[in-house]
Amino acid sequence: MILLINFCVFVLLHPFLTAAVILIGLYFVIVGTIGESDSETHDDDGFNYHDLEMWKEKYPECGGNRQSPIDLNSRYFQSKVENIPLKFHGYERVPAKMQLTNSGHSLALKATWSTTDEIPYFSGGPFGNDDYVFEQLHFHWGANDEVGSEHTVNLKSFPLEMHMVHYNRKYEAIKNATEHEDGLSVIGIFFDIHLTGARGLENILKEIRTVIKPKSRVAIQPFPLTDFEGVTTTSKFASYLGSLTTPPCHEIVTWLFPITMLDVTKAQMETLRLMQLEHGDDHNHRTVQPINDRAISIFKIE
Ligand SMILES: [Zn+2]
Repeated sequence: MILLINFCVFVLLHPFLTAAVILIGLYFVIVGTIGESDSETHDDDGFNYHDLEMWKEKYPECGGNRQSPIDLNSRYFQSKVENIPLKFHGYERVPAKMQLTNSGHSLALKATWSTTDEIPYFSGGPFGNDDYVFEQLHFHWGANDEVGSEHTVNLKSFPLEMHMVHYNRKYEAIKNATEHEDGLSVIGIFFDIHLTGARGLENILKEIRTVIKPKSRVAIQPFPLTDFEGVTTTSKFASYLGSLTTPPCHEIVTWLFPITMLDVTKAQMETLRLMQLEHGDDHNHRTVQPINDRAISIFKIE
């Protein structure tokens, strides 16, 4: 009350000053609001695929020395014998729900199983006694079939690369896992052009038209991850220590590449390119990063 009386006395004594104060206040409210809504319209994670060199300006880890992707060059291969075999569990289980999302940077597939025990995971091999639990999968592709994969093999690119993201069970959830060096393991799979496409890919692409726009999603008919045949049945794998291939580029990923290839048709690649990405990106593959002092282990299951 006293404050209000004081304010009234101030207005009576200094009418011009009061008007000026109110106008200045109003200016900041308006400009502040515009500033906010502007940052909201452009509120994505602030990266695009035209300007890869800019990533490290905003996300310093993108300039680190354990970055992905790399060229899986046979010069750096080291044969390794694992005492504990790498084992895949539950990939044949049909999820209760599946959801396809256009994240603005990729096409991603998330799945939910009826109980936590049913979620597919792998363990053993280079991971010892740690379990890595399936979280989501997504794709990287190019503007044409000559490019698209993020990793290359002896400098050869493939039209499509799939990433099956898994988190270390000991961190309980992916958001905690991303704070640890052994937090994630991503299975990378290359696709090459063929007359018929992998069944898993067909299941996804027949639903793609509803997620053409960035930030759109749709529930799809659930199917087991084994529809990406060969991923869990291959006996030979390449593995190296790397990072997320998108900002913030955290160096927390043990990469796993089954020595096998999946099939994609030319028509399926065209369908995938209907996806609209943010910033008008027509591709979503990062260029290969220096291997530095890293080795690529080649190991066998059992
Ligand atoms: Zn990826």
